[in-house]
Amino acid sequence: MDCLFCSIIAGDIPSTKVYEDEFCLAFRDINPQAPTHILIIPKTHLASADEITPENSAIVAHIFEVIPLIARKEGLTSYRLVSNIGPDAAQTVRHLHFHLLGGKQMGETLA
Ligand code: 5GP
Ligand code: ZN
Repeated sequence: MDCLFCSIIAGDIPSTKVYEDEFCLAFRDINPQAPTHILIIPKTHLASADEITPENSAIVAHIFEVIPLIARKEGLTSYRLVSNIGPDAAQTVRHLHFHLLGGKQMGETLA
């Protein structure tokens, strides 16, 4: 399958990794929107959070356990998590990912 983030997981495309385990990978966004902008992705391909089911949701629970560890390593106790789903939300990479944004005061509006 031709997927940018699967290629990053495979190591075929380089990335700046900040965390990795058997199930997920976290790396710095190539076009950061905040001083800390990290993408956390499952190693199994899901197109978006719209594909989460009872059968695969354990990976999401795992990612949400890892996110606070990554935030602490970045020195953050306050930050924003975003996951875009499909074209209306301007999702550009069709591999489930969570944006971890922090290190600046963000606005109140999300859309
Ligand atoms: P989306 O718009 O799909 O929610 O977010 C995709 C994110 O992936 C964007 O913030 C974009 O900057 C980031 N991105 C796209 N290509 C690459 C890449 O090759 N490497 C890294 N590290 N980030 C990428
Ligand atoms: Zn993928």
